[in-house]
Amino acid sequence: MKHLNTFVVVDFETTGNRPKEGDRIIQIGAVLVRDGEITERFSTLVNPRVDIPPFIEKLTGINDEMVADAPPIEDALPSLLKLLDGATFVAHNVFFDLSFLQNALHEAGYRPFTGPLLDTVELSRLLLPGQEGYRLSDLSVGLDIMHDRPHQADSDAEATARILLHLLGKLESMPLVTLQQLQRVSRPFHSDVQTLLSDIEQQKIRQGAYEPAVDLEVVHQICLKKRKTVEKNSGRSLEETMDFDDFVDALFGERGMLKEHMPGFELRPAQVTMMKQVYDSFDSGRHLMIEAGTGTGKSLAYLIPAVFWAKQQEETVVISTHTIQLQEQMYSRDLPILQAIFSNDAPRISVLKGRNNYLCLRKFSHSLQEEHDNYDVQLSKSQMLVWLTETETGDMEELSLPSGGQIYWKQVQSDAGSCLNRQCPWFSRCYYHQARRKAQQAEVIVTNHSLLFTDMGAEHRIIPSYKYAVIDEAHHFDDVASRHLGDSISSYQLEGMLHRLHPDRGVGLLEEVEEAVRGWSEASYEESKHAIETAYQQIREGKETVREMYTLLYQWSHQRAKEGEEIGHTVMRYKQENLRDRWGRAVVSAVRNSVDLLLAIGKKLEAIYANIHGDDVPLGMKSLVTDLNGMVKDCLEYASLLHDMLLTEDEDHVYWIELDTRSTRKNIFLHRVPIDVSSLLREQFFDKKESVILTSATLSVNSSFAYATERFGLADLLREDSVDTAVLASPFNYKKQTLVCIPSEIPNIKGATERHFIEALIDSLSQVAVTTKGRMLVLFTSYAMLRNVYEPLKERLKEADITVLGHGMDGTSRSKLTKQFRSLPACVLLGTSSFWEGVDIPGEDLSCLAIVRLPFVPPNHPLVEARNQQLEEQKKNPFMQLSVPQAVIRFKQGFGRLVRTSTDRGIVLIYDRRVIDARYGRVFLKSLPETNVLIQPTGQLLSEISDWLA
Ligand code: SF4
Repeated sequence: MKHLNTFVVVDFETTGNRPKEGDRIIQIGAVLVRDGEITERFSTLVNPRVDIPPFIEKLTGINDEMVADAPPIEDALPSLLKLLDGATFVAHNVFFDLSFLQNALHEAGYRPFTGPLLDTVELSRLLLPGQEGYRLSDLSVGLDIMHDRPHQADSDAEATARILLHLLGKLESMPLVTLQQLQRVSRPFHSDVQTLLSDIEQQKIRQGAYEPAVDLEVVHQICLKKRKTVEKNSGRSLEETMDFDDFVDALFGERGMLKEHMPGFELRPAQVTMMKQVYDSFDSGRHLMIEAGTGTGKSLAYLIPAVFWAKQQEETVVISTHTIQLQEQMYSRDLPILQAIFSNDAPRISVLKGRNNYLCLRKFSHSLQEEHDNYDVQLSKSQMLVWLTETETGDMEELSLPSGGQIYWKQVQSDAGSCLNRQCPWFSRCYYHQARRKAQQAEVIVTNHSLLFTDMGAEHRIIPSYKYAVIDEAHHFDDVASRHLGDSISSYQLEGMLHRLHPDRGVGLLEEVEEAVRGWSEASYEESKHAIETAYQQIREGKETVREMYTLLYQWSHQRAKEGEEIGHTVMRYKQENLRDRWGRAVVSAVRNSVDLLLAIGKKLEAIYANIHGDDVPLGMKSLVTDLNGMVKDCLEYASLLHDMLLTEDEDHVYWIELDTRSTRKNIFLHRVPIDVSSLLREQFFDKKESVILTSATLSVNSSFAYATERFGLADLLREDSVDTAVLASPFNYKKQTLVCIPSEIPNIKGATERHFIEALIDSLSQVAVTTKGRMLVLFTSYAMLRNVYEPLKERLKEADITVLGHGMDGTSRSKLTKQFRSLPACVLLGTSSFWEGVDIPGEDLSCLAIVRLPFVPPNHPLVEARNQQLEEQKKNPFMQLSVPQAVIRFKQGFGRLVRTSTDRGIVLIYDRRVIDARYGRVFLKSLPETNVLIQPTGQLLSEISDWLA
């Protein structure tokens, strides 16, 4: 076996991606790394003897003139080959550079390179499992490595060499046991990582470095980061008589604590008001709905009184955010401030997420024994082994798994059905149980809306009991409630379960159970043998039947489905009456067959389970038995869900099918959601709490909370004056910071064809984009329209050197597109639904926001349609009571993307004339903060826009 201690890090700039089809090297950068140091560098331009395409010239800055006098590749190769002699060939995405090297060697009459290879993408994925991205630029930023001339071979090779040195250093510090485990799972890796691991292992053994570092420990042959022993504080020691107003005054005074602990702290009167209102609501046991405009600083405005209240009253306060990312953000951004404020008595704050976010160590250690050829699965296992030496939480959010790793995660995530609890050999180290224990001791628990409702469904066994809560981003609260108080099931879930039980190839749970029972007790095996044989047969049949059912469901719904809110998703509402025609009857019959088979499989597995569980089962087998029991529950639950969703109907629910048309797997999701959750929210949540604070930047419509209180089931309480409401204006000066422009030549949606509208839109957008030099975000309500605008707008802005990025056209990740938008000097970003909120681009990078259409939820979305029908039956006006307020709230969210700080300044373009022409349209403008509004043709607006931004 070769030892890897000399590395040549290579980067080629080329005329394209295909060496075999004539693409050539135009620059070589090479860096020699020996014994942990950079010892030599080589770089040269290369004359490719073909023209350099314009986009490569733009990317690399290398043109035909620059390479005209450079050596051809056959003259440059000897220097490179001299360096490569006996060394490992390393590159970032090594097989790309290797393909060019081999081609050049072949054409110049040399033998191919046969030495070892290392790919720094693969190695960084393994050793930096929490990194956000693995492009050279991402890694350079993440590791603080200077990389000032990207796409220049010498600079790229230098940066890659420094990344390699970092990775080698990390490998050397890796505990021996982890190195050994990594070798076992890295067999399918593409480059010679396994050899490198073996080298470093041998080196450690030679040095006698058997023990892991002091902050690590080996548990059941896996190396984990040791738990920090948390210093216990007394907690809850605030004097009961201490006045909250005095406390706040001390915080905000001239020599107050906030000034001391927050650099750049500014006094915001609305923030102080909100703190006092939150505290007063807790104190008086009343619910409060509070709209706090952008820039109020609402997180601290509820966290400070929440901690104060929890400490003083010895109560637990739950804070719920909309997403896990917001939970994280709050924890990392605000916790240090709270710790500083309550420095004498550090607050006990814990973050609690849904159980599936935590790694189950028992399942993971079991899965390490399984041989797998799948690259993504083995890479994920390796990443997790490294991650376990770093994580204190076991929370998957810290991991950047490859795409196939998400499926593997489902196999090793913690879940209630397969948990051994106290009997688990990993119990004392279990991440989920540790998070729950921390939550039980916490004064403030930060969670998310989903978990809040999952907890309700689980009879409050997840979140420790609490009477006080703050719901942030409350405008999403009822939608999340709908999802959680309803049911859904995907084809992937059902097929995945059957696959895990008994895959077409390889070993599944049932095979493992059979093997374990056979080895444990002959008598039990004889007793279970028949049931196991029958179960195999039934599962094979079940897979076939379920596949048939999904194929029929897909075909049946595909023609009838309409475009959904998300890209590549179509939806179709259905009722039992739609299943009465010939096709529908075929679907029903396939569903019946599937339900019957799932019930039969569930019962058979239950019988096997009954034979093999008990106190005398050996410990090693207990986990398999528990997993089997989890499968029994899943199987019976899926049977019951399919039955309830497709064979029966409850008039308080709406049913729909969603098709993921993007994926080749043709995923199908079935949903059953209560049409109105307001009474459930009132009975199951608000009536059981002493005081709940609902807050958001967008809760009111035209200064009224009527819509929000209806949705949350609080309308009666509002009428009885038992709920408080407050609107706190944003501290930003929108009159000075924002100019709203309505291009008057744009046709009204009602009076024009879509083509006519789009032409006018592109015309106006392109003129404004040239004036604003890009820096523009365009918000669409439909992906189809975005697609129609994308290409023509791109063409129009090419001349002006303005890049156009489209959601779904240049990628689907919002954060990646936003990053790209910010990094380009002049760019227009076209976004759909997810861009209306959560996008945060402060400063001049975003100077113009265009709202193409008022964000009405399409009335044909099943849930909206069902809610509209329900309102009609109650003789109410669904458009004014539901559609308009819903759209206004979303419109306000969209508008809020522009001004993010007190110094931001920009333009908001509204292309939907209904805001001025329709009677209801004025509600939209009235719901915005006070601003200047101009209604003029685009041609005239341009000079105003230019002056405004000057
Ligand atoms: S206690 Fe439960 S969740 Fe935790 S490691 Fe054991 S089986 Fe997994």
